[in-house]
Amino acid sequence: MRPFYTNSQAIMTTTKQPILFLSHGSPMTALGGDELSRAWATLAGQITRPAAILMISAHWNTRLPTLSGHIQPETIHDFGGFPESLYQLRYPAPGAPELAQRIKQHLTEAGISAEIDHHRGIDHGAWVPLRILFPEADIPLLQLSVQPERNARQHFALGSALASLPGENILIIASGHMTHNLREYMQTTGIHPAPETKKFRDWTHAQLMINANEPLLDWLHAAPSAKFAHPTPEHFLPLFVALGAAGAQRKSVWLNGGWIENSLAADNYLFEQGGLDL
Ligand code: ZN
Repeated sequence: MRPFYTNSQAIMTTTKQPILFLSHGSPMTALGGDELSRAWATLAGQITRPAAILMISAHWNTRLPTLSGHIQPETIHDFGGFPESLYQLRYPAPGAPELAQRIKQHLTEAGISAEIDHHRGIDHGAWVPLRILFPEADIPLLQLSVQPERNARQHFALGSALASLPGENILIIASGHMTHNLREYMQTTGIHPAPETKKFRDWTHAQLMINANEPLLDWLHAAPSAKFAHPTPEHFLPLFVALGAAGAQRKSVWLNGGWIENSLAADNYLFEQGGLDL
């Protein structure tokens, strides 16, 4: 990993749970000891214990928005070619089936059709950061899927329908990646970081820090090198769920970031709702 930078000024100012967007790195991060896991450990010290966690992971893709409703979801090892020790890891957090029903109701009231999957386990986009953030695995956890066939505005609307949850001490975590070009990532030569992905990362970061939602929602056309940074959208779409939940008056805090090899930007953000009476 390239040098990793941390914002030591990231201090929460409200009693509501924040909303997080995390770049989840490689599954190897779950073993700890790298810069990204250290950054998450620092973040863990800044978050009060939530009553439940709603995770929107890039690694659960469905046609309709779907909530996991298993009472004790199993750990899914949805990756190949990694050391055996990774496949032994478990994240045995309890599920939250009643909360899944309630969130489905929120979505229905917002005019969004959603389903509950009573068999779904916890994928690595969820458990890799959670093993570092909440290693006890004792906080009820459920997931909400990403719809790669739907656009940023539809994911923003999904997030808007979840905006009451932070006030109920529920932590929303959107787990994806600031950039996610795995073909480029595999290149062993080249400029570090790859100029196209750096342009995309810097543009996106600037829009986030000034709360400019419109250009972000139009990212496929407005952002430089969008298709290079994200050949497929599933790792970027969780960000829009986070932005929708945070609302227009949000406070955006850049927590930390760096480059994994030459093309994976691993920025992490915390959003606080503001100006909302929920
Ligand atoms: Zn991923």
